[in-house]
Amino acid sequence: MPYRAPVDEFRFLYAHVVDLAALAGTERFAEATPETVEAILTEAGRLCEEVLAPTRRAGDTDPARLENGVTRTSEGFDAAYGAIAEGGWVAISADPEHGGMGLPMALTTAVNDMVSSANLALQLNPMLTQGQIDALEAHASDELKALYLPKLISGEWTGTMNLTEPQAGSDVGALRTKAEPNGDGTYAITGQKIYITWGDHDLTPNICHLVLARLPDAAPGTKGISLFMVPKYLPTEDGGPGPFNNVRTVSLEEKMGIHGSPTAVLDYDRSTGWLVGPENGGMKAMFTMMNNARLGVGAQGIGVAEGAFQHALAYALDRRQGASKVENATGSIVDHADVRRMLTTMKADIFAARAIALMCAVALDRARSGGGEDWAARAAFLTPIAKTFGTETGMAVADMGIQVHGGMGYVEETGAAQFLRDVRVTAIYEGTNGIQAMDLVARKMADGGEAAFAMLDEIESFAETARERMPDLAAPVWEAAETLRETVEWLVAQDDLNARFAGSVPFLMGFARVLGGHAHLMAAMADPEGPRARLARFYITRLLPQHAGHLAHARAGAEDLYAVSPDDLAA
Ligand SMILES: Cc1cc2nc3c(=O)[nH]c(=O)nc-3n(C[C@H](O)[C@H](O)[C@H](O)COP(=O)(O)OP(=O)(O)OC[C@H]3O[C@@H](n4cnc5c(N)ncnc54)[C@H](O)[C@@H]3O)c2cc1C
Repeated sequence: MPYRAPVDEFRFLYAHVVDLAALAGTERFAEATPETVEAILTEAGRLCEEVLAPTRRAGDTDPARLENGVTRTSEGFDAAYGAIAEGGWVAISADPEHGGMGLPMALTTAVNDMVSSANLALQLNPMLTQGQIDALEAHASDELKALYLPKLISGEWTGTMNLTEPQAGSDVGALRTKAEPNGDGTYAITGQKIYITWGDHDLTPNICHLVLARLPDAAPGTKGISLFMVPKYLPTEDGGPGPFNNVRTVSLEEKMGIHGSPTAVLDYDRSTGWLVGPENGGMKAMFTMMNNARLGVGAQGIGVAEGAFQHALAYALDRRQGASKVENATGSIVDHADVRRMLTTMKADIFAARAIALMCAVALDRARSGGGEDWAARAAFLTPIAKTFGTETGMAVADMGIQVHGGMGYVEETGAAQFLRDVRVTAIYEGTNGIQAMDLVARKMADGGEAAFAMLDEIESFAETARERMPDLAAPVWEAAETLRETVEWLVAQDDLNARFAGSVPFLMGFARVLGGHAHLMAAMADPEGPRARLARFYITRLLPQHAGHLAHARAGAEDLYAVSPDDLAA
């Protein structure tokens, strides 16, 4: 079924939930006028509908493969990537000094969402390039910027991130790849990286790897890690791809989904690298890329959810099975209460997750346009929530999409299963959702919960205002925010971090539920007699109550969890 870009929903969220217009009032984002925003949304939507979405199935049925040392990509990906690059879509938020458009992350997030619906496997490629651009803009020398940024921003070359090694997954500090000074300002990089997304391909003449490695005598753990730019081909004087830089593709992983995305094992053998950021400052520099990619991965989850939802809705409107006596029956399975429940849950949760991702993006944009530390703290706080809730929504919605299809969801013919297989990895890469939640309750609450309380103040104050016109919707949101406030107070009082960690994922999910309630309430207030209010009522009545279970779990501490021993588990 053809994909339809949810341009109206972005327009609505920008206008009524995240106040995009406030950004156009800042010097940095003065270009983000209503006309530009409209042009970006409609043009990106058209690209996704007409050019990218038709290539999604080939990414599943015609996987990337390694043939005689050359990585070949799926049928149609070359032309589709070309359309992304030629249209200037790789990095619309990049700095205009090097060819970017300097537009807000709130727009990039919408574009990433739509491109992910259209073809997740392909979208990973420009998304990682975006993260690399962000890291180079913030940490690279002027020479590296001048050489690499124009080529990355135009899409002429692509970028990857190289953290993972067999013994260093979530524990990045365990990595062993070596960097030895060559004496001329460059470094010889030696080691093996695994799971490198788009680590090799035939779409562009060069691939730029950002690689984490250790200098001789570096401190153990994350403090002794440095970041290097290691291109596949060494750039020549005139900036073209020159000699091979000994970055060999050992193999491509066989995966559950995103078959069109080549996931490479890369071997570096005294490959030449250039330092990005200071020696031993690699984690800080890489975090710029990772934070960008975390929001991007959240948008991936939402985008796949949208694709799965549209697919399921089209099937449900067509499939006839059993009769329902409801008023205005269509005769299809959409009349059945349980099917209606699944489809409405899918739509309501996509709206909530999308609102949260845009809240995070706008906070980043506010911080970058001189809004101050509070916006930066909010963006940092919302990043793990946007990543985790976006991807959990992606998985739950894709799973429900299969259920709506019945048996036709389980056979490959309809394409419903691809959404679930593709989206499953989003909860794993860019830091698993468990690692995101730990970051939320530890580092992101090291401020004593200040960023969280500031958001809760806003949620409660909006609910107070809404109480007069929509008391039945406003009251549950206000009460949920109070329960969340008590949970934040409980968590910040726990000095034993494991007491926080034991319920960190439920806490994150509870927080997201409340943020979703807030976004739906804002939507209902803006469209009190229309479909937004009807969807908000469904969310606030049926989905928001889940926060109570999540938050009870979050406050339970670690003792009873560890009381169940590994022996008990095996019994
Ligand atoms: C398709 C794909 C593409 C990828 N692309 C890239 C890429 O481009 N670049 C790159 O560098 N990496 C990439 N990765 C690697 C990815 O980021 C890692 O798989 C991920 O970080 C988890 O590491 P791991 O697989 O070693 O799992 P582990 O770290 O072994 O984790 C296993 C489980 O233990 C949990 N766990 C681990 N440590 C802790 C802890 N301290 N506290 C609580 N729970 C913990 C995890 O949450 C998880 O549930 C990719 C992976 C895949 C599958």
